[in-house]
Amino acid sequence: MGAGLAGVTTAWYLAKSGHEVVVIDREPEVASAASYGSTGIIAASRAYPWTAAEIGQPLRRFDPEFWVWGVQHLVLRSGRSYRRVLEAKVRLVRYSQEVMRELVAELGFPLKRGVLYLYRDANELQSAWERAATMRSLGFTIEKLQAAAIAALEPALDVSRLAGAVYAPQDEAGDAAHFCRTLAAQCRTRGVTFYLENEILSIEPIDVRIREVVTRRGRVRADAFVCALGVMDRKLREQLGTQVPVYPVKGFSATLPIVDPQRAPKHAAIDETRRVAFAPMGEELRVTGGAKFAGYGREHEPQHFATLFDTLKQLYPGAVDYGRARMRACQRPMTPETTPRFGTGRYQNLWFNIGLGHMGFAMCAGAARITAELLSGNSAPIDLEGLRIRRH
Ligand SMILES: Cc1cc2nc3c(=O)[nH]c(=O)nc-3n(C[C@H](O)[C@H](O)[C@H](O)COP(=O)(O)OP(=O)(O)OC[C@H]3O[C@@H](n4cnc5c(N)ncnc54)[C@H](O)[C@@H]3O)c2cc1C
Repeated sequence: MGAGLAGVTTAWYLAKSGHEVVVIDREPEVASAASYGSTGIIAASRAYPWTAAEIGQPLRRFDPEFWVWGVQHLVLRSGRSYRRVLEAKVRLVRYSQEVMRELVAELGFPLKRGVLYLYRDANELQSAWERAATMRSLGFTIEKLQAAAIAALEPALDVSRLAGAVYAPQDEAGDAAHFCRTLAAQCRTRGVTFYLENEILSIEPIDVRIREVVTRRGRVRADAFVCALGVMDRKLREQLGTQVPVYPVKGFSATLPIVDPQRAPKHAAIDETRRVAFAPMGEELRVTGGAKFAGYGREHEPQHFATLFDTLKQLYPGAVDYGRARMRACQRPMTPETTPRFGTGRYQNLWFNIGLGHMGFAMCAGAARITAELLSGNSAPIDLEGLRIRRH
């Protein structure tokens, strides 16, 4: 259930393990929801839990469902809880990067190595560098760069805007939606069927097992189900028989044609001061930003893109055509700890791969392998402490 990064990668590993797989999604094409808008950065060296500070918005919203989420999220501020979540996230992201490298090699899909994290303020740069000490102690290669070294990597970047950068040569980036669609095509050659434009309306359990799901186009019966629905409707979520603490965190994503490759970025990067991420994707540039608790709507206004475009204009003047920008709003499926959940809850044949949050491209390959192994009755390839769906 769900044809985003979580669903399609899971279908791939299930098909490879010999299962007969059907993928259901309400959109006409795979990777049309959160997975469409992604900047596609595999920011392994920054697998930090997102706190309210990262989201940059006070936890105020009139929505009881959000209050429950918000209280759980605030627990993250306690040091012990933060460390535990960080370790779980690093474990998953590391494993996922390993699996992703094998997968893209098999597909011949390009990923670009090296991601820059840019800072406009010297104090910010210093605290980011101090924070990175934890990641360096966990084995990540992270370098601090000054203007000349940044310019060597990014000749078109206006370094006068910056105090410096943190560079992670092992982090990677690629076009996540294109990856997802390429993998879906490969899934089809392995016999996976896609039922698209087909909304799931309800699930039909008998005792502790799901028998079938009811879709707009009919009923689909199976031995086992995987819930990879990202941000899903409340009604459906309530039927899953288990607490699925996913709340939407809205982000804005624009894709712009590159008009002058000499003036465009060569690497993916995040302007950390402005919280704007961008990445070249062939002849286009993707720019994203914003993290809002704004409910389930996907509407957007031109002003949501003002900071994104202004940042690009400052850092890479003349690189892209703003008049031909394609704009979207997408919902990150976020758990309070900002880590996904795996395993089964009340129903013994309903497996979860849910809550990839702000790092879905970085975590999807590992998340899919974990789900496929569990569903096949094998043990998980990594320790799932802190990453299991809660039963109740
Ligand atoms: C602006 C932005 C930038 C991002 N940048 C990055 C990045 O640089 N790096 C990174 O690692 N991650 C990034 N992410 C996060 C990443 O995109 C998500 O974590 C990932 O796409 C989530 O994948 P998913 O498959 O869980 O969800 P989705 O892609 O949302 O897939 C869920 C699918 O379920 C379907 N569905 C839901 N309900 C139903 C129903 N009732 N019936 C049928 N189908 C249904 C939806 O149509 C959808 O296709 C970004 C996210 C955003 C929003």
